[in-house]
Amino acid sequence: MDILYLVVPCYNEEEVLPETSKQLREKMESLIKSGEISDKSRIMFVNDGSKDKTWEMITALHNENKLFQGVCLSRNRGHQNALLAGLMTAKEHCDITISLDADLQDDISAIDDMVKQYHNGYDIVYGVRNSRQTDTFFKKTTAEGYYKVMKAMGADIVFNHADYRLMSKRALEGLSEYGESNIFLRGIVPMISSNSTNVYYARKERMAGESKYPLKKMLAFAWEGITSLSTKPIRMITGLGAIVFLVSIAILIYSLVRYFMGETITGWTSTVMSVWAIGGLQLLAIGIIGEYIGKVYLETKQRPRFIISKYLGDEDDMKGADDNKN
Ligand code: UDP
Ligand code: MG
Repeated sequence: MDILYLVVPCYNEEEVLPETSKQLREKMESLIKSGEISDKSRIMFVNDGSKDKTWEMITALHNENKLFQGVCLSRNRGHQNALLAGLMTAKEHCDITISLDADLQDDISAIDDMVKQYHNGYDIVYGVRNSRQTDTFFKKTTAEGYYKVMKAMGADIVFNHADYRLMSKRALEGLSEYGESNIFLRGIVPMISSNSTNVYYARKERMAGESKYPLKKMLAFAWEGITSLSTKPIRMITGLGAIVFLVSIAILIYSLVRYFMGETITGWTSTVMSVWAIGGLQLLAIGIIGEYIGKVYLETKQRPRFIISKYLGDEDDMKGADDNKN
């Protein structure tokens, strides 16, 4: 039977942990009882350098019930890194992970559907919000705008999906091949495998405590996502340079016409032409240099060039690659 690990990053979450741990425990116990998952399944809290009693609470939970596990980071490293730390630790012990936020804004009843989809053979199951009624107008517009901008900038992410997702051990092995330190999981995970599906749920309100993502952090997060996934901004500069350069040719013709019609004062034609031509050429050149820097950037990430998902060969040739019950 499959071992499921729930991975929950926590940063100053003392206000929600008692309720979160209670609900997650009930969920896990019912899944174990119904035979969906193994009784070796665990709930793993990752303490991301909290300044409050979060870690003490996790320790107490673990001492009380071995269903709870804890990972403590040496200091605050941010949501994405905390999540990665949890996933990579869990990978060694489990067949499936589901990552979710500590505030339980993501409906935990979707866990059943996720596990079902895993049993249907999917390696990755995305939790997708189908409504944002409980989000404030501001949060909703900024969040949805964010997904659209991301897409336009060449970062292929799943619309309205945050970090609530199921990943099989195989998908996690794939994820571990990505060596980049600026990790943006929402963008990386779709690159790992297309053997994925969505599960829909309604997003709830934060139970208690405050959002750890104020606007400033959200903007930084968006920018991080774009620049870590795509070199499209560079390409936009090249495009702009080309446009300005084309405009400069039009201006050249225009100013020459004016010049020969004798409608200009001395020096105007050459000044106007050089401003546009030089500007356009410079932008174009920066864009071209940028193209190469973009390539260097992507090369330094040393991302895997492929991930094999199935292999038909002699047994034991590829351990773990084909252990999906399918
Ligand atoms: N979180 C974290 N480290 C941080 C910030 C947040 O581990 O530096 C965790 C936090 O405890 C929560 C999750 O990331 O479990 C999402 O944060 P939050 O709910 O505040 O974000 P929002 O839902 O408002 O976007
Ligand atoms: Mg939240």
